[in-house]
Amino acid sequence: MKPLASLSLDLDNEWAYMKTHGDPAWDAFPSYLDVVVPRFLRILDGLDQRITVFIVGQDAALAKNATALRSIATAGHEIGNHSFHHEPWLQHYTTEQIEDEIASATDAIVEATGARPIGFRGPGFTLSGATLEALAKREYRYDCSTFPTYIGPLARAYYFMTAKLTPEEREQRKALFGSITDGRRPLSQYRFELADGRSLLEIPVTTFPVVKIPIHFSYILYAAMKAPWLAIPYFRSALLACRAFGISPSLLLHPLDFLDGSDVATLAFFPAMQMPKERKLDVLARALRIYRDLFDVVAVGDHAAAIEAAGVTRSVAFTA
Ligand SMILES: [Zn+2]
Repeated sequence: MKPLASLSLDLDNEWAYMKTHGDPAWDAFPSYLDVVVPRFLRILDGLDQRITVFIVGQDAALAKNATALRSIATAGHEIGNHSFHHEPWLQHYTTEQIEDEIASATDAIVEATGARPIGFRGPGFTLSGATLEALAKREYRYDCSTFPTYIGPLARAYYFMTAKLTPEEREQRKALFGSITDGRRPLSQYRFELADGRSLLEIPVTTFPVVKIPIHFSYILYAAMKAPWLAIPYFRSALLACRAFGISPSLLLHPLDFLDGSDVATLAFFPAMQMPKERKLDVLARALRIYRDLFDVVAVGDHAAAIEAAGVTRSVAFTA
C-alpha cells in the first residue's frame, strides 16, 4: 500500500496577480477562468485524479465566473476557501475584518458551487491567529496555509524588484511569501492550538525535507525552464526524501502551470509564462505521474480526514 499524499490548486485569477503586482487595471476583475478551468479539469479527468480547488470569494461573487466555478464542483473536486479579496497581507486584518473575510468568502463559494468548504489556504501563504480562530469557529476542518521554507524572503526580494509598487504598497506586502518563522514550522501535519482554546488541523505545503526548498509544481516548471535535466530528478528526490522521513506530502498547483503568455497577455512578463504550454503540460504530466507512482494522492479534505482518523498526536501553539 502506498503512503497517502494530497493535491490542490489555488485558483488565483488574472486580477489577483495584477493586484498583488500593483497593476491598477485589476479592479475590473479580468478573468481567465473560462480558459484555465476546462483545461485543468480535462487533465485531471484523464488521470482520474480528484483534488481540492481553493476558490477566491470575489470570483465566486461574479456572475461571469459562474459556469467555470460550478463545473469544478460538478466534476467532483473538493472546493476550498482561498479568502474573499486575495490580499496577501491578510495577517494585518483586524479580528472583525478577518471574520467578515472568511464569512463572505464562504457564502459566495457556497452560492456559486453548491459546496461548503471545510479547508482554507491564505493568499500568498499568509496566516494569523485571528484567521485560524475564525476558521475553527465556522467549523472549518483544516488549514493549509503554512509554507515551511526559508526562501520566502528571497522570493519577496525578487518580486519587489519586478513589481510596480508605491512605498505604501511595499509596506503592505512586507510579509509576502513568509518570514523566517515560516521556515521553522514543521513539515508534518499537526494541530494548531489557538488562543481561544480551539484547535485546527494544519496541513503544511510540503517542501524538500531538511533543506526546506520548495517542490510544488510552479517551482518544478521554473526549474524545467532554467535546467531541464534537473527538474524531474529534483522532484523525484524530494518525494523519495518525504517517504524516507515519513512525511505525507501535500502539493499544490497554480493556474499559471497550465497557461502561457499567448493565453494571458497581461501576465506574459511572468518568468514561467515564457515556457510554451505544451512543454509545461508535458513536464506537469511527468511530475504528476511520479507523484502518483510513489503516493496514493487524494484531495486535501480526504487527507485531513485520514490524519484525524489515525489520531494526530502533535500540537503546536500558533505563533505569528
Ligand atoms: Zn493565491
